Amino acid sequence: MWPRICRRIPKEVFTVLGRLHDSGYQAYLVGGAPRDLLRGAVPQDWDIATDARPEEVKALFARTIALGEKFGTVGVLIGDQQLEITTFRREGDYRDGRRPDWVEFTPDLVADLARRDFTINALALDPLGRRLVDPFRGVWALKRRLVKAVGDPAARFQEDPLRMLRFYRFQATLGFRGEAATERGIEAEAITKVSGERIRDEMTKLLLGTDPARALRGMARSGLLTAIMPEFKAIWTTDPSIFTHLAATVQAIKPTAELRWAAFLHDLGKAVTRQVDGDRVRYYGHEKAGQELAAEILERLRFANAFRQKVLTLIRWHMFPADPGLTDAALRRLVGRVGPENIVDLLELRRADIIGTGGPCAQAGENLARFNRRVQALLANETVFTRQDLAVTGHDVMAFLGLPPGPQVGAVLDDIFHWVTEDPARNRKELILEYLQKWRAAH
Ligand code: ATP
Ligand code: MG
Repeated sequence: MWPRICRRIPKEVFTVLGRLHDSGYQAYLVGGAPRDLLRGAVPQDWDIATDARPEEVKALFARTIALGEKFGTVGVLIGDQQLEITTFRREGDYRDGRRPDWVEFTPDLVADLARRDFTINALALDPLGRRLVDPFRGVWALKRRLVKAVGDPAARFQEDPLRMLRFYRFQATLGFRGEAATERGIEAEAITKVSGERIRDEMTKLLLGTDPARALRGMARSGLLTAIMPEFKAIWTTDPSIFTHLAATVQAIKPTAELRWAAFLHDLGKAVTRQVDGDRVRYYGHEKAGQELAAEILERLRFANAFRQKVLTLIRWHMFPADPGLTDAALRRLVGRVGPENIVDLLELRRADIIGTGGPCAQAGENLARFNRRVQALLANETVFTRQDLAVTGHDVMAFLGLPPGPQVGAVLDDIFHWVTEDPARNRKELILEYLQKWRAAH
């Protein structure tokens, strides 16, 4: 196994491990790196644990950055890699459910592994000494593709309730099952003690995973989902198949953070707009209701403004008509409403929505492909999507018509915009003023 593993470790990592060893310290790869190396994947980052103190680590390397030295972490820059070196530590009780009462450095590697969340994350690998330290049978769990808590699950989740969400996050990113006994340790309401930012980051990683649907089903089962997003509660009392559809849409859509979030929230409004009308169920205005619910969730989880706006736009317009009969003018106005930068993602949401509804119907797929070609042709030509793209401004309109500033100027611009989208060749100042001349005569 060693040659196969060592081949995937960058030489900079060996340099750092070697220098610590030569100075008489222990040094191991810990966290995600040994887990990913042993399951045959490429680690995202290289965390190193050592019994050297932070000041001793800093003395060994030319370029270091402080990354939370109080907690024992020093960043080392070497070649084009940045590695994190953390001193072995043990932690006291978590009486506030946020952070341990005390942290102390220790020369004991096993104590450091014991504070980690899941057995697959509690391995230590020393590729120089060819040693694998596995006190919690992490390799056994890796082989069974199982996420299992280190120690007593309920106690570990109480210490840091974010671990409940990480339990599902690793199921989503690794495609592993969650151990039943670990899931029974979940006390979902405790998640409300965790900050929005920490939930945001783990939830986004979960959604970006290869198997988000499984993880979301688990979160729904244990109550963690509604503890984080009470907006989902109405789904369980009206129509649980809405949730099944949302999870399937997430699974089907391209893995960018905005798309995955939009897919997960796009039909949230259905539970509050559902109406039974004879033998039909209708959801009038669910895209607007959903946008409002999603806005609250994204705000609470402290997403940046640009991210929120994009997701909300996709949700708001996800019911757009992808009808082959749509006129060019209507298509240009649609692109104007959602923004040229969002239209491709809106089509991707529609594609996933169709798959999430129970498989692609050939007709819908064909229509969408044709629609996509029309949009691409439109985007390739410079054209008029919003009022800002018009060849005249509000000032031009006021000067030409002798209007004072006010809502009437906006109304005239809307009228011009409508006229220009009928035929983008009209977007020239002299043509628009000619049009206004007639408009003035008519009013
Ligand atoms: P990824 O590859 O997605 O970064 P990772 O396992 O490296 O996965 P991180 O969140 O970067 O995950 O954490 C690094 C390691 O630190 C984990 O593998 C785990 O051992 C430990 N860890 C992180 N967060 C916690 C926590 N809340 N409780 C206990 N241990 C944790
Ligand atoms: Mg990591």
